[in-house]
Amino acid sequence: MPPGFSTGWRYTAPIVDMPIYLGYLQQRLLSAGATIEIREVGSLADVVALAPVVVVCAGMGARDLVPDPGLNPIRGQLVVVENPGITEFFSEDTGLSPDLLHFYPHGDTLVLGGTAEPGVWDRTADPSIAASIIDRCAEVEPRIRGAQVIGHRVGLLPTRSAVRVEEQQLDGTRVIYNYGHGGAGVMLSWGCAAEATALTLRSWQTN
Ligand SMILES: Cc1cc2nc3c(=O)[nH]c(=O)nc-3n(C[C@H](O)[C@H](O)[C@H](O)COP(=O)(O)OP(=O)(O)OC[C@H]3O[C@@H](n4cnc5c(N)ncnc54)[C@H](O)[C@@H]3O)c2cc1C
Repeated sequence: MPPGFSTGWRYTAPIVDMPIYLGYLQQRLLSAGATIEIREVGSLADVVALAPVVVVCAGMGARDLVPDPGLNPIRGQLVVVENPGITEFFSEDTGLSPDLLHFYPHGDTLVLGGTAEPGVWDRTADPSIAASIIDRCAEVEPRIRGAQVIGHRVGLLPTRSAVRVEEQQLDGTRVIYNYGHGGAGVMLSWGCAAEATALTLRSWQTN
């Protein structure tokens, strides 16, 4: 155990390197014949007029788009450093604390975390928060101290009392919602996508 810890569990878990994983998913989508157009959708009404079925997976953006005032951000900040040779992940169960403590090896890089700041929208990396994340992680794993910082990541967890995967009629168009996954959107993604797909296909067939 690292100094100061009395109990812990060691287990193997899948660790996702998000830039690589998202690139892989995008490639699968393109290979399946989809086209991707990146632009901001100002309102649901704009797209509802264009298609018989619309699937809304806008994360935090659903708050304004749907609109859904029950969707709130929890800010998470991470630091990416050169991996000084760490091969196992570490995560402390910090409960509801805003100061999280974890690190995940992604080959040559190591992702250090983190924070959980309810109601905070700012997506710029705060240097003093980054320094305290590095300090906390280095206390557990001294090799992290002095590791070259490669980048900073800040994201907003789209948090809601419950995940929303459901269908609604809007001006004759079927709208499928799939958002509000908070801090578990990767873990829940395949299950929710399967459910949203089933709703979409059912909508499509009855249109
Ligand atoms: C620091 C951090 C750590 C995390 N760790 C984990 C973890 O360990 N395990 C886990 O399962 N999950 C984790 N998550 C949560 C996970 O990343 C989210 O739950 C997930 O990304 C939500 O996916 P989504 O597709 O619903 O939303 P997003 O990933 O936010 O995607 C929504 C997309 O919609 C776009 N968009 C929004 N509004 C509009 C609009 N009006 N017009 C056009 N485009 C729009 C956005 O630009 C974005 O590209 C973490 C998140 C953070 C920030």
